[in-house]
Amino acid sequence: MSGSDEIPGVLRRHAPRAPAIALVLDSPHSGEAYPDDFDHAPPRAIVRQAEDTHVARLWRHAPAVGATLVEALFPRAYVDANRSLADIDPELLDGPWPEPLVPSRKTAQGIGLVWRLARDGSPMYARRLRAEEVRARIDRCWRPYHAALDATLDAIHRAHGAAWHIDCHSMPAVGDARSDDPGRERADFVLGDRDGTTCAPSFTEFVARTVRAMGYSVAINDPYKGVELVRRHGRPAEGRHSLQVEIKRTLYMDEATLQPNAGYTRLEHDLGRLVEALAAFVSDVAIR
Ligand SMILES: [Zn+2]
Repeated sequence: MSGSDEIPGVLRRHAPRAPAIALVLDSPHSGEAYPDDFDHAPPRAIVRQAEDTHVARLWRHAPAVGATLVEALFPRAYVDANRSLADIDPELLDGPWPEPLVPSRKTAQGIGLVWRLARDGSPMYARRLRAEEVRARIDRCWRPYHAALDATLDAIHRAHGAAWHIDCHSMPAVGDARSDDPGRERADFVLGDRDGTTCAPSFTEFVARTVRAMGYSVAINDPYKGVELVRRHGRPAEGRHSLQVEIKRTLYMDEATLQPNAGYTRLEHDLGRLVEALAAFVSDVAIR
């Protein structure tokens, strides 16, 4: 892929609209293109509670500062780009999976590679899925998404000797029954670097400081440490820095209707200021 590209229903890659800098953002969970073969049991409005709705749009200023933004168009509950291919729940399937599985705690919570439960705890399917169905979701959505992000980060790393990656998400304002923090109100932003392993500490600290200066509360690795995307791409010893950024949904939308609320415009503006600050940060670090 080159320039700004789209695979319909799968991904959109927003190329820099200014000289390219060593900053890449990805939004794996904001897709709204529901495939005809999803066959979910709960109403669409319930299934959509899995989305990080609006996240790619909220970060839309990133290409203007020279960053690249990779956006998933497929729904997160259909196949989750922020899970490993081994994180499949055997309970979902009507037969054996042909490769070894290593289900994680996310699968135990019903939210592995293919979600078994909707956000309200109800079963996502009224039947077992065929292995070929899951394989098709992986091949049509998960693999191209990872290939596009891998290629983008590799090209940036080759050109600049470093790659700074923000994995963009949003989170419910309060932990639900199946989260690690049930009933607890979250900070406005939760930064996840898998306990300091996926990026230079200065990157996490810079984002925390910048966002706090805008008046937001920030927590680090609590309750979200970062999952598959920052784990795959964060190798700070090689100059590859990945940070997960979770934004509290009530800052910008009504969690039930998914409609933008009065805070949306301010948050979008502040994320524009954040990517400007990040552009200065990554140029600064690059010439040091
Ligand atoms: Zn997410």
